[in-house]
Amino acid sequence: MKKSLTTIGGARLPVISLNTLVIGSGAAALNAAVCLHEQGVEDIAIATEDWEAGTSRNAGSDKQTYYKLSLAGELPDSALRMAVDLFAGGSMHGDIAYTEAQNSARAFFHLVELGVPFPHNRYGAYVGYKTDHDSRQRATSAGPLTSRLMVEALGREVKKRGIPVLDRHMVITLLTHARKEARKVIGAVAIDQKNIREDGCGFVLFNAVNIVLGTGGPAGIYKASVYPESQLGSHGLAFAAGAVTQNLTESQYGLASLKFRWNLSGTYQQVIPRYISTDARGGDEREFLNDYFPDMGRLATAIFLKGYQWPFDPTKVEDYGSSLIDILVYQETVFRGRRVFLDFRRNPSGGGKLKEFDFRLLSPEALTYLERSGALLPTPLERLAKMNPPAIEVFKAHGIDLAGEPLEIGLCAQHNNGGFRGNLWWESNIRHLFPVGEVNGTHGVRRPGGSALNSGQVGSMRAAFYIARRYGAKPPTVKAFLAQAQAEAGETLDSARKMLDAKCRDSDHIARTRLEIQERMSTCGAAIRDPEKVKPAVGEAWSLYSRLKSELKVRSVKELPAAFRNLDLCLTHALYLEAIHEYLSRGGKSRGSYLVLDPAGTRPCPELGEEWRFSLNPRPSFVDHKILEVSLDSRGRVVKEWVDIRPIPQEDSWFENVWEDFREGRIIRGEEE
Ligand SMILES: Cc1cc2nc3c(=O)[nH]c(=O)nc-3n(C[C@H](O)[C@H](O)[C@H](O)COP(=O)(O)OP(=O)(O)OC[C@H]3O[C@@H](n4cnc5c(N)ncnc54)[C@H](O)[C@@H]3O)c2cc1C
Repeated sequence: MKKSLTTIGGARLPVISLNTLVIGSGAAALNAAVCLHEQGVEDIAIATEDWEAGTSRNAGSDKQTYYKLSLAGELPDSALRMAVDLFAGGSMHGDIAYTEAQNSARAFFHLVELGVPFPHNRYGAYVGYKTDHDSRQRATSAGPLTSRLMVEALGREVKKRGIPVLDRHMVITLLTHARKEARKVIGAVAIDQKNIREDGCGFVLFNAVNIVLGTGGPAGIYKASVYPESQLGSHGLAFAAGAVTQNLTESQYGLASLKFRWNLSGTYQQVIPRYISTDARGGDEREFLNDYFPDMGRLATAIFLKGYQWPFDPTKVEDYGSSLIDILVYQETVFRGRRVFLDFRRNPSGGGKLKEFDFRLLSPEALTYLERSGALLPTPLERLAKMNPPAIEVFKAHGIDLAGEPLEIGLCAQHNNGGFRGNLWWESNIRHLFPVGEVNGTHGVRRPGGSALNSGQVGSMRAAFYIARRYGAKPPTVKAFLAQAQAEAGETLDSARKMLDAKCRDSDHIARTRLEIQERMSTCGAAIRDPEKVKPAVGEAWSLYSRLKSELKVRSVKELPAAFRNLDLCLTHALYLEAIHEYLSRGGKSRGSYLVLDPAGTRPCPELGEEWRFSLNPRPSFVDHKILEVSLDSRGRVVKEWVDIRPIPQEDSWFENVWEDFREGRIIRGEEE
C-alpha cells in the first residue's frame, strides 16, 4: 500500500495505491482479507465505515445458525446433495449452489482453525441439527452470537497478519473505466470521517486493481427492521457503477423486538407468550389474536410453531398456520396504527369462543416438545427460564426485563436473499469488482437457515483465490490511474461541494428523507405487497432521488457522510421497488417471505377482511422459472432482464482429467472466457 497526494478541483487529496481494497468489516469482508493474505496477496487494506458496525458483529438470534455440509451423524451427505437442497429454494443458479456446497466444509474448518468455538463431541464430531429447508443435519451454531464470534476470530487474524485497517472510511463512489464493452472497477472514493475538512471534504482516493465489496445487506431502506442500527448498506455504490443484481425481490421478514432489535424465533415463541396490542399511548389493551383463531388449541400451537417457522411464509398461513400471526401483527401495527407486544408474564387468555390456555389443548408435537424439555411450567417466562435462560439475559443486558414489561414487536426485514450477481468466483459483471457476503445475492426464493453465513465465507474465499491467481498485479502509477479516474473523482467532489450551504437551516431533512425512504419500503416493498401501492411508490422513489440529487443541502462537511448515505439509500430503494414492480407486472404472486394482495385470491382466514385476499404463484409460473436481473445502464436507465436458471453442473469428475485442468490452470475461468 503506497500513499501519495494529488490535486483535484483545487483540493489536495490522499491517494492510496494497492492491489486489493476490501470494503467493510463484516464476516465476509474480513474473511476475504484473511484469505487474500493467506494466498500471498499482501498489498491489501480494509476500509470500513466503522469497525464496530455491521450485521455480523451486532446481530444474533436464539441460536444463530451456520449451515455447512453434514460432518457427523448417521445420515450420509455429499456436496451434490447439499447443492440440491440449496437449489430447491427456487431461482438460485445451480452452479453457484454447487460451489457453495462444495466449499462449505473448507470454509467452516477455516473458521474452526481461527478459533470460532463451533461445538464438537469428544471424538471430534461437529454434530449438527436440522434447520429450515434442510434434509440433513447440516446446521451448527456457536450460540446466539455466532457471527460475532466469527468477526472476532477473523479480526484477530487480520491484526496478527498486520493487514492495514482504515477505520471510519466510508466509501461513497466506485471508480470505473470502460474498455470496449467491458467495464472494470479501478478504484474508489471514500470519506475519512476522522479527517473531514472544508477543502477536500475528507476525500481519500483508492487506486486499486481489485475491490472486494463486503458492505452487507440494504438495512437502511426499511423502517421495520431487525438489522442492527449500525448496518445501513451501500448498494447504491455498485448500482451507480453498473453492477447487475439478481433476485432483489426476495428478502426474509419475521417478528422481532423493536426497542432492542432481536429476532424472536425459537424458544421465544415455543414458550407460548401472550400477544397483546394497545393504542399508540399504551391504553386499550387487547389480545387481538383471539378474534381470528377458532380455538385456544390452534392459537397456542400456531404461536409455538412460530419458533421453528420464524420467517414469514405465505404457504404457512392457511388453516390457522403460524404465519397468520405475522399478518395479524402487521394489520394491528401498520393498518391500525396500534402497538403489539409479547407478554411473557402470562399465558394467552381465553374469552369469547376461546377456552383458557391449557397444555392439553396443544398439538401433540408442541406438547411433547415442552414435556421433554421439562417445561410444563405455569408461565411463559418460567418456561423460557427453564429452556433458554440466556434468552432472558440478552434482553436484560439491553435494559429490558421480561419479568417486568411486555416486549414491543413488529414484522421486520432481516435478510436479503438477492443482491449483486457474481460468477463462480464471485466477480460481478464489473470486472475486478467482487461483491461478497449479503451484498452478493446468491440465494433464491427460500434458503436453509444459516446458509447466509456459509455463502459469505465461501464467496469471500473464492474471490481471494481468483484474485491471487489472476489479478495479483501491482496497481498502475498514480498518473495512469488519474488519467482514467480524475473526471469521476472530480464529479464526486463537485457534488459534495454543491451540497455544502452554510445558510441551510433545515437541520432535520436528513432524518426526514431517510424516514420517507424507510416508510415507503416498509409499506410497499416488504412482507406485504399491494400491487396498487407499488406502482406509484416507484414513481415517488425516483422523484425523491432526482430532488435529492439537485437540491440536497447540508450546513457542514460533517454532515456529508449522512447526505451521501441518503443518496445511496434512495437509489437503492428505487431499484428494489423497480424489481418488485417488474415481478408483479409479470404476474408474480406470493412466495418466499412476502404476501402479494390479490382480489381474485383467497382470504388468509374467514375472520379477516376482503382486503387481505392473496394467492400463491401457480405452478408452473413464469417468475418461478427465471431469475430477475436489474441494473442501471451507463445512461442511468433501468434495465430489467429475466434470465434462465442455470442447472447444477454435471462435471467431468474423472481424476486424471481434473488433475490436468488443474495443472494447466484451466479451472480458473472468468466471465470473458
Ligand atoms: C437478527 C439477524 C439474525 C440473523 N441470523 C442469521 C443466522 O442465524 N444464520 C445466517 O446464516 N444468517 C443470519 N443472518 C444474516 C447474516 O447475519 C448476515 O447476512 C451476515 O452477517 C452479513 O455479513 P456481511 O459480512 O455480508 O455484512 P455485515 O456484517 O453487515 O458487514 C457490512 C460491513 O460493511 C460496512 N460498510 C457498509 N457500507 C460501507 C461503506 N460505504 N464504506 C465502508 N464500509 C461500509 C459496515 O460498516 C460493515 O462493517 C441474520 C441477520 C440478522 C439481522
